[in-house]
Amino acid sequence: MDVGESLSLWRALEETSSKLTGFVKRACEVLSLDTNVDVLVSLEYIYENPEYQPKICGYYDPTKRLIVVSLPCLMRKDLKDGLAETLAHELIHHCQFTNGRLCSVHISTEEAPKIDRAMPYKNRPHEIEAYAKQKELANTLQGVEGFDDAVNYVKRLAMSEVRLPPISEAIRAQVNNPLLEETAKDIVNLAREDLLSVASEILDIRLCEIEDETARKRFEEQASSYLQKLKEEPVKAILEDIKRDVETFLKWDVEERKVKTLIIDPATEQPHCYLFLDNGIAIGFDLKGSYLPLLPLLLKTKDQTLSLKKLGELSFNLTIEEILQGIFRAGSYEFELKILPQEDMAKNLSNELCEDDTKPRIKKLMSMIFLLSYRSAA
Ligand SMILES: [Zn+2]
Repeated sequence: MDVGESLSLWRALEETSSKLTGFVKRACEVLSLDTNVDVLVSLEYIYENPEYQPKICGYYDPTKRLIVVSLPCLMRKDLKDGLAETLAHELIHHCQFTNGRLCSVHISTEEAPKIDRAMPYKNRPHEIEAYAKQKELANTLQGVEGFDDAVNYVKRLAMSEVRLPPISEAIRAQVNNPLLEETAKDIVNLAREDLLSVASEILDIRLCEIEDETARKRFEEQASSYLQKLKEEPVKAILEDIKRDVETFLKWDVEERKVKTLIIDPATEQPHCYLFLDNGIAIGFDLKGSYLPLLPLLLKTKDQTLSLKKLGELSFNLTIEEILQGIFRAGSYEFELKILPQEDMAKNLSNELCEDDTKPRIKKLMSMIFLLSYRSAA
């Protein structure tokens, strides 16, 4: 991991921490507790006390009024219940140090370290009270407004999930793109009265190229019914042609190709995933309905055998551990994983488009057209 990746990761942690702080402050208002408290989400593996059961995934620092929660620890439990219980336990400690009414044990920051030195963890009065009251308070917390939102935020950082729409849906959306009808209208307007004559000239040239008598006859029939249609409903006839060409191109040059790289960009208003194929073409997908990662990610396939079709069958559940290790596995496929700094996103997209390219400008242009024109079906 380089400095840029590390800073992006810290920003995601900061963002999640501030989301949790907002929730905890609201909960303090509801519970009539001192609202001067912050939450910090940590990637370190922390238990309040490693030997004692049930384990609490965090701790409270009374001098800083800070609740630290451990993401790797929470991931070993049910995230929702684990988070509620850890926050509840630490909020009871917060109550004890700030004279709240929710707790009956009240201690000072001077007294606490003495108790900690003098008594075993499970016999300390503030711990006995925290463990006794945490369950009920956890239930209350789950009912406080914003809890689910906070859980989802933590989830996005801990184990995000990217669901790609099936490629067939993307192709269908592309074929039914309203822009194609606009193009058909433009062609008809541009050609005006020359449309029929130009079309029949082209058909005549093709007819001359056919040697087989039966094939010639069949083509002639098709050509005449096509010209008839072109005369009656020119836009419809041209649109059908364009749709067929687009579909053929997408099926052969897109669907059958191998995937090189994926870039997941969760930070924009409409989150996207960009797929880069081995022929230099890129496709942009709208992402919705998933717990997207908080961080922009780049996934590069290690072997070049993953087809676009196959990719649609893979599930992308990215855990924070995989992000830290820089390796992600889905099925039998392995990806090299990197965090992308948000500010370098455009540069990275462009780099991927131009990589090992003999005709960079043409491919880049093609790719950009795909990226710009794709909108998933509603
Ligand atoms: Zn405790």
